[in-house]
Amino acid sequence: MTGSLPMHASAPTPISLPWRHPDRVAQLHAALAQRILILDGAMGTMIQRYVLSEADYRGDRFAEGFDRLHLAEAHTHGDGCTCASHDQRGNNDLLNLTQPGLITDIHRQYLQAGADLIETNTFNSTAIALADYGLSHLARELNQAGARLARAACAAAEAEDPARPRFVVGVLGPTNRTASLSPDVNRPGLRTITFDELVAAYRESALGLIEGGADILMIETVFDTLNAKAAVFAIDDVFQTLGARLPVMISGTITDASGRTLSGQTAEAFWYSLRHAQPLAIGLNCALGARDLRPHIDVLAQIAETHVSTHPNAGLPNAFGGYDETPDDMATVLREFAESGLLNLVGGCCGTTPAHIDAIARAVHGLPPRHVPQLEPLT
Ligand SMILES: [Zn+2]
Ligand SMILES: [Zn+2]
Repeated sequence: MTGSLPMHASAPTPISLPWRHPDRVAQLHAALAQRILILDGAMGTMIQRYVLSEADYRGDRFAEGFDRLHLAEAHTHGDGCTCASHDQRGNNDLLNLTQPGLITDIHRQYLQAGADLIETNTFNSTAIALADYGLSHLARELNQAGARLARAACAAAEAEDPARPRFVVGVLGPTNRTASLSPDVNRPGLRTITFDELVAAYRESALGLIEGGADILMIETVFDTLNAKAAVFAIDDVFQTLGARLPVMISGTITDASGRTLSGQTAEAFWYSLRHAQPLAIGLNCALGARDLRPHIDVLAQIAETHVSTHPNAGLPNAFGGYDETPDDMATVLREFAESGLLNLVGGCCGTTPAHIDAIARAVHGLPPRHVPQLEPLT
């Protein structure tokens, strides 16, 4: 070893990298300092309203059930091939490619309802989740397309009202695998995914979102903190590669009445497990309605020296899998959150619609955002 080399040739930590879109980050910080920002609502609930057929989901490119533009290595379609064995109905993220006008229309409705930030239609656009549809190879492309559609919708809204910036939140979903838990109660050591596999998948998806023009990345609906750590690791790696970063939001999911995530953490433990990522915001979404999330948001609001977000479901699912909380119900509960100083960002998850977002935006209008505490470092 030569004496001139440092013992650890350390790459710059992501936090020291420049912003990829410094003007947009400045606008975002200015807006967060002024008011409670509004996130959009559910994508799935809105897509259901269009009652799409299998053919609608497939469009031309996927008319035969598989991707006409893609052939796996050394494969020729023909007798005995199973490429067309996947139904695409329900593959909502595929609509970024096959029904872009419909997705744009939903984004526009949420922007009109008062959303400052809209989430890309990419919740399942990881190679891992797309494997269920035989379309893992589309991960990067779906994320690019999803971010582009959202960016264009924001640009259109900004053109109408230049005083009000709108932001694209590039969504990274949890995948359908858990890195720290077994899916089989009889085989507790079983894992169906590794940390490295998650990192590879998240790297590809994050890159696609950034290439498509996302302003922020959000790791959301986190039920397993180890999955989220893989996403944080992958995002940092992509930022290093690009030499620039975006703000990152992280939102967990409390899945049971004991107030814990699926991997067993309280909101407090969840924050301290991910605090090293220095996110723009930490929050909770999905699974519960706003009322049941309140004690957990209260904890985050007290301990997190960053912004706090929440986008709850429209209550708990009913017997038919639907959601019953009206826009007024939800807005009334969330207004109290804001009056108690708990919120920096608020929106809706499953079952919410533009009417919910409109009611929430009106309910918190004029109320000050939560003051982000400067906590003494623990020594
Ligand atoms: Zn084939
Ligand atoms: Zn949800």
